[in-house]
Amino acid sequence: LTLLGLESSCDDTAAAVVSGRDVLSSVVLGQNALHAAYGGVVPEIAARAHAEKLDIAVTEALARAGLGLTDMDGIAVTAGPGLIGGVLAGVMMAKGIAAGSGLPLVGVNHLAGHALTPRLTDGLAYPYLMLLVSGGHCQFLIVRGPDAFTRLGGTIDDAPGEAFDKTARLLGLPQPGGPSVEAEADGGDPERFAFPRPLLDRPGCDLSFSGLKTAMMRARDTLVAAQGGLRAQDRRDLCAGFQRAVRDVLAEKTRRALALYAAESPAEPAFAVAGGVAANGPLRAALRAVCAAAGTRFTAPPLALCTDNAAMIAYAGQELMAAGHRADMRLSARPRWPLDTSAAPLLGAGR
Ligand code: ATP
Ligand code: FE
Repeated sequence: LTLLGLESSCDDTAAAVVSGRDVLSSVVLGQNALHAAYGGVVPEIAARAHAEKLDIAVTEALARAGLGLTDMDGIAVTAGPGLIGGVLAGVMMAKGIAAGSGLPLVGVNHLAGHALTPRLTDGLAYPYLMLLVSGGHCQFLIVRGPDAFTRLGGTIDDAPGEAFDKTARLLGLPQPGGPSVEAEADGGDPERFAFPRPLLDRPGCDLSFSGLKTAMMRARDTLVAAQGGLRAQDRRDLCAGFQRAVRDVLAEKTRRALALYAAESPAEPAFAVAGGVAANGPLRAALRAVCAAAGTRFTAPPLALCTDNAAMIAYAGQELMAAGHRADMRLSARPRWPLDTSAAPLLGAGR
């Protein structure tokens, strides 16, 4: 199947054409410049920009693929979760194209897009364990099919990407925070500041990141009060300490998630990390080591397919269509749309 995919759930306007596992084109029009002055994504500005740019993204994606709408087998669109105005802009656009062309329409969960990316990039077979770690989410999932996920645990408050972004804001580094904090941490001493390792003392795979944000704020405030500002080395050390704490917590919880997954005795145990934070080098290296120790195959999609894009939506749309999913003109935009069903049997009683 060859699908046109649309993605507009956050601050990237994206369109892509994917055929099987071939990404024929993937256009991502970012909005960083529009939001830069506000220190974060402004939903109203994002929605308007999506409405203006979707058209351009679609035209560009088809042109780069060298194909027309008549070559498509369907249209896949992110129908949530995300900023409602942006999701709505994408859904309206997709409905318009579907109505005009007569092509079938399929609504895709943005998180399923991230979760199925390792199948697109590495051809992973079901089932596999996935750590989905992004700007808005952090969860361990057993991916069993395009519409079958078991959630083993996840963050009880903030997502790590959000904590990276907040850290960058606190330290006056550019957004998105992940790449700037990672670059800054490169020359830093991760031991100088003591950051907590939240929830490691609790069993299971749940995570928490709000305490890390608070610890960052306190450490910064203490330095500013003592010396009137931050020195370049302070910034580097703070970033290094923060990044190390995030890495340690995610690595340990991954070890535990792998143990839970092993209880299912998968024939070829595989683990994948996806979502924007999966772009983080030290985190990838730590997760790779955890998997090696557990005898589990490790995969991480290339960076361009880790952050938001429409290729993952077009790919997930193909799998959903093949499984018989279709949407019609009633397709609605959902601000919240959890992927998971409960993993109570895997995790034992008491949950
Ligand atoms: P969601 O997918 O949960 O709706 P989102 O779409 O905003 O959220 P992504 O685009 O998947 O999230 O990822 C963006 C996040 O990834 C941002 O918070 C960004 O700071 C973070 N990020 C990107 N690169 C890195 C990196 N190298 N290290 C750490 N974090 C990173
Ligand atoms: Fe995303």
